[in-house]
Order: sequence, then C-alpha cells, then structure tokens
Amino acid sequence: MSNERDPNDSRPAHREAHAHAAEDQPFHYPMQREYVEPDWTRLPGYRDVTKEQWESAQWQRAHSVKNLKEFQAALGAHLTDDLLEDIKRDQEERATMSMLIPPHMLNTMEVEDLRGDRVRRYMAPALSDRQAEWASHPMASRDSLHEADMWAVEGLTHRYPTKVLAELIPTCPQYCGHCTRMDLVGNDTLQVLKYKFEIKQNDRWDMMLAYLRKTPQVRDVVVSGGDMANVPIKRLEAFVMSLLDIENIRDIRLATKGLMGIPQHFLQDDVKQAFARMGSRAVERGVDIALHTHVNCAQQVTPLVGAASRMVLDAGFRDVRNQGVLLRGVNTSPGDLLELCFMLLDHAKVMPYYFYMCDMIPNAEHWRTSVAEAQDLQYQLLGYLPGFATPRVICDVPFVGKRWVHMLKSYDRERGISSWTKNYRTGIEFDDPEALSREYVYFDPIYTLPEQGQQWWRDQVANDLPDAHWVEPPAPVEAAAPDVATPSEGQPAPV
Ligand code: SF4
Repeated sequence: MSNERDPNDSRPAHREAHAHAAEDQPFHYPMQREYVEPDWTRLPGYRDVTKEQWESAQWQRAHSVKNLKEFQAALGAHLTDDLLEDIKRDQEERATMSMLIPPHMLNTMEVEDLRGDRVRRYMAPALSDRQAEWASHPMASRDSLHEADMWAVEGLTHRYPTKVLAELIPTCPQYCGHCTRMDLVGNDTLQVLKYKFEIKQNDRWDMMLAYLRKTPQVRDVVVSGGDMANVPIKRLEAFVMSLLDIENIRDIRLATKGLMGIPQHFLQDDVKQAFARMGSRAVERGVDIALHTHVNCAQQVTPLVGAASRMVLDAGFRDVRNQGVLLRGVNTSPGDLLELCFMLLDHAKVMPYYFYMCDMIPNAEHWRTSVAEAQDLQYQLLGYLPGFATPRVICDVPFVGKRWVHMLKSYDRERGISSWTKNYRTGIEFDDPEALSREYVYFDPIYTLPEQGQQWWRDQVANDLPDAHWVEPPAPVEAAAPDVATPSEGQPAPV
C-alpha cells in the first residue's frame, strides 16, 4: 500500500502527537512532600510517649499545651529564649486567643526553625510577627462579621436567606491566634474579655431547634462553635438527629478544625458509632450531611488526619471539605496553597473548598492580605486542580457575607477600600428598603498600600476617625474583573 495521499482526499492530514508534561511549571507535581506522621519522639516532651498513648484522644486532650511553660516543656531547646520571650510579650500585649495546642498539632510544627514555622506563626504568635504601626486596622472590630448582631436566638446566626450557623459551644480543642470568633470563643486573654452565652446550653439548643422548625426558609445548618469536636458525642448526635427530624432541613454541615488538630477524637469507637448512625439516618432521610474542616498548611495533612477523614466518609457523610484561611507568613503563596490542596485531595480525601481572607479582627493585620493579593492567588490556583476541587478565594464582607474576590463593585487601590453589594437581605434587613442597593466597604491592610494611602489613613486616625459608614465607596471599576494584582513585596515566591 502506498503512503502517498490522494490529492482529492479531503480528510485532515496526519497529526503528529508531540505534547508532553512541561518541566518548567510554576507549580511542580508530583509533590516532594511525604505523607507521614512526624515522629513525636523527636520532641523532648514526647520522647517516651507510646503509640498507644499518642493515638488516644484522652491522652491528647489531657496533654494539650495550655501555657508557655508547657509549650517549653514539649519543645525543649527547639524553643529559643528569644522566641519564648517574644511569644510571652505577645500574650501580654496583643493576643486575642489564649494558648491551647494538642500534642498532635504541635507535632506538625517544623521545629528546626520554630520562628519561621508556619504552624507556630498562627498557633503561637510572637509580638515581632505582628505589624508594629498598624497592628489593628482602624476599622477592625471584635465580631467583625456581625454574627451576634444577626442572632435569631442566642448563638444562631441567620445571615443568608436559606442557611444558618449554629454556635453550639464557645470552646475548641485548639485555639488559633487568628480566630474570627475571638469575641466569643476561648478563654479571656489579657487583651480580650470574651462574651459569655447568657442562656443555658440546653435551653439555647432547644430554642435553635424551635426556630428552625418554624422557619421553612432555612434548609441548611452549619453546626459549629467553637468546634463541634468539643461537644460530647452523645449530645452532638442528639442535636443532629433532631435536625434530621425537621422537614425543611436538607443540608447539615458539621464544622471542626479538630479533624486536623486532634484526629484521634474521630477514631474513638463511640465517635465512630455515632457518626455511622448520623450518616445512615441522613441517607434514609435524603439529607446531605458533610463535615467541614480547617487546614491551613500542607505539613498538617498526616495519615492520622487521613484516617479520621476516611472514618467520616465511611460513615456515609457526603463529603469532607476544607475551609482554610489565608494567612501571610503561613500560606499566601500559590505554591503553599496548591501543595495544601493536593495533600488534602490525594491523601486525606478532603475536598478543597474555600480559602477565606483573614477577617478584620483586632491585631490581625500582619496575617491579612489585600483584596488584590487574594485576587492574584485565585488566579494562580486555576488550572492545576480539578475544577470541582479548585477552592474559591473568598472575602467575607461585613453585613454582606461571602463574596468571590473578583466580585467587588469598585476598588480604591491607594486607600485600600473596596466596595461590595449583595443580592439578598440578611436576617436583620427584612424591612430595609436599601439592603439590595447599598454598597458596603472592606479595607486592605494599611501597610500594603502605597505611601500616599498610608498617609491618608494616618490623617484619618489623627482626626478621630468616625465609624465605617462614613467611608464613601470608591468609583466603580472600569473592567468587569480587575487586573490581576502584583503580589506585594515580601510575599514568598511560588514553589
Ligand atoms: S478552631 Fe476555629 S473557632 Fe476554634 S479557635 Fe480555631 S478558628 Fe476559632
């Protein structure tokens, strides 16, 4: 047979396949990071701890680090005197959360460089980590998302039309330095006296259930806190079963950072059995039940976390999803985020879902990113992960709610003021005629602004800044979506 083509043949000619994987990608896959449990006996405080002790949730809770003395005992010489002093000063002058770190979580710190370690930076912040001039944004506030303003009953936030947040308890197995619920969650610190629920817990939960029974507009409940891993499992199960008995509830999400902080909790027999019962009742009822967790660093995805996630999925839960927080110095490079997403997806079967911009709470400026930086991170994440596992980068705008970071209406890059609108009424705007047309403002960290912008803010503060409603929304952006921002100086380079 001849290879010569008939000149009258209109079929497309032979195509030589020549594509291949590029070596020179901004992010390299497969990853270098191993999926292993770090050896806890490398840490002086855990040298003699057995596997059985380590895998016991009771042992983990009893040995959680609650103060600097215990932190030092666990880490020994890895914690240098100057870092110890730096963290101590932070606790005296800036900390909005008290110290609480389960040994499992502490063991995910890269202790050879504890000062630079990403987990240490958000679980045990040091004073020198924080911004000196602008430790807090002038518009920062304790309950920056106004969750308490939107309580339908104490602890039940009704912000969106069809979903609510149920804050069952104000405690967690671990306390994160950047906690957005610093107003309510955890122990008092020298800086912050926490709000205390006034209604007895049983009564409060009953009132939440009663509200949901009489509110058919709500179909979706986030069961949170604090952290639902601190709710005794029998009580959690009873609450979830009550939710499953409410006709209008079609989605339930249990929120726990504990899945990563203390995965041993989820591997106890009574917890596994309760999850299996909740999972099968949800399947019977045709309700989607899922677990939402909060992992910020790739190094925190370990086999014990994977085992806990597998237990939840085996129990019939629809999904385990991750909602991380963008924290400068922890995870704000594309490489950090992609590595975390792939570790979650490949090993722990956890779906990357959201990355929230760190909220405008006091003393959080050093962690926060500008909207422009967040937009750039969203851009850099696209194309690597499957579409269904590509997390959305979110700005939680006060009095608005979650917005994708490119959805702003206008953006003054010099003063770091963006404006946003919304397409629904929150639970406190039922009679507000302007709720759907008003523009709401959000503020970038001031130290990320050009000098003129920083000076403008200094002048406002010197002139006794009034409250946020005074700030005029900037002029609308010209293009449908703003340009991709240039990462600010000091950002780690992509992996
Ligand atoms: S686990 Fe969640 S609620 Fe608890 S301190 Fe951390 S961020 Fe706050």
